[in-house]
Formats: sequence, structure tokens, C-alpha cells
Amino acid sequence: MSLVNAIDLVREACDKRAAVFSFVCIDYNEVRAVINAAEITGKPAIAMLLPEYVTNFSLNGFAEFAAMVKAMAERTDARIGLHLDHSYDEAEAKYAMECGFTSVMFDASRDDLETNIRRVKALTEYAHARGVAVESELGSVGLAKDHTAEQTDLFTKPETVDLFCRETHVDSLAIAIGNAHGDYPLPPNLDLRRLDEIDAVTDTPLVLHGGSGIPEDQLKEAFARGINKFNYGTDVKRRYIAAIHDYMKKHDPPQSLDVLGLPAAVQQAMTDLIVRKLELCKM
Ligand SMILES: [Zn+2]
Repeated sequence: MSLVNAIDLVREACDKRAAVFSFVCIDYNEVRAVINAAEITGKPAIAMLLPEYVTNFSLNGFAEFAAMVKAMAERTDARIGLHLDHSYDEAEAKYAMECGFTSVMFDASRDDLETNIRRVKALTEYAHARGVAVESELGSVGLAKDHTAEQTDLFTKPETVDLFCRETHVDSLAIAIGNAHGDYPLPPNLDLRRLDEIDAVTDTPLVLHGGSGIPEDQLKEAFARGINKFNYGTDVKRRYIAAIHDYMKKHDPPQSLDVLGLPAAVQQAMTDLIVRKLELCKM
């Protein structure tokens, strides 16, 4: 099957009152694990690239990552989408489109509302003219390590959502309702009432970032109440590192050819985790 446009999966999830799961991937091993898990569960999945994973080294990584996911998607019956996660820079987001990303996140949520609207609107116009879908962010998801439950001033304000979506024509919207990126110091408590209020004022599909560490009962509620795309990364990264440690412990002292077994070992560990997570996906 050829690559599916990620936004089509998000819209299908929206119609089904469900969420499509989207995974931040750094390399072949992670994309392989996502596709393996999608095949095993029969669920669709989106492979995302976080720009930082390549920009620290070379912008060439955009084209290579897109080509890799496309080639892998063509060799599976699972429905796989491709998406660029958090890009803060117009030139970078446009370059990703050139490289084959048909869905990008352009994040101007660090700006004031007016600037966020202006920048996202311009980028969305550019993207739509090229058949590319845009996700943006309203409110500030931020890092879990900086988070406290009282930081509701950074949460998405329901009264700004309709204006933002109408003005920008954005295809999906990441919201802040107590979720955050990375490791939560304490289990988060999603503001589901706020989600209801946001869902009531817009038909734009909603996205939940910072999925690792959110208790499953809260996730089920969030998916039933308007979240249509779910970003998941930190737990998979943790599993990746643990699998490397386990493998090296078994091969101590390591012989040079032991490295041949490492990819399969880390892929299996991540696949097992993703399969379990995908059980929450109702698509
Ligand atoms: Zn994010």
C-alpha cells in the first residue's frame, strides 16, 4: 500500500469519534516498530519526524526520512501516514514539504495570539496550495518537567479556538489541557471539561501531544471527547534505550558481530510496547 496522507487518517478518526496514534521516530528501527505494530493490530499509524532529530546534523535528513517512510509504507498492507512534528520555522516547514512531507506541524504557539494566527494562516495558505495539511498549536503544551497543575494560563482558551481555526484554516489543532512533553514528575490530570468546551466550538480535529505518562482511563475519555490524533514518543524512546542496555548485558563483553542482532532486539521491544498502546485505538 502506498503512503496515506496523515490528515486523511486524522479526519477518519474524527468521523469515528476516535484518535489515530502518531509516533515520533528517530530512525529506521522506530519506523519499523511502528509498522510492525500497525500490521499486528490492523490499526493505522503515523510516523513523525521531529526536526531536531535531523537539523542538529544536516537538513538532508528530511528528504531521507520521508523517502524511507514512503518506501516502507509501500511494502506493507498497514495504513501508514507521514508527518513532520513541531517546526517553528517557516523556511524549514516549506523545505519539509519539498522533501515529501504531505502533513506538517507548524508551531507558532510561543507567539502572542495575533502573531500565531498571522504566521499559521500564511503557512497554511502556502501548504494548501501544494496539497499539504497543517497542524498548529494554541495554548502551550510545553515540557512536562516544567509543568504544574496550576499552570492553566498556558492551557488552550476555548474562547480563542473558533477564531483561530476560522482565520487560519488549519487542518488540525494541538491543544494544551494539562498534557506536556517528556517525563511527567507527577501523573497528569487532563482538564476534560476544557476539552469538552473546545470540542463544542470547533469542527477542526484536535491533537493531544505528550502522550507518555497519561493514565489510560484519561486517554480513553479524551479520545471519546474529541481528541483525534494522539502523539506518543517518550515511552518508546525509554524502551529503545532499555532494549539496548538489555542486549549489551546479554553480550558482555561484546564481540563486534554482536551488533548484527541489535536492530532486531530493539525493534521487537518497541513493537511490543506499541502493540499494547495501539489497543486503545478505536479505529
Ligand atoms: Zn508536541
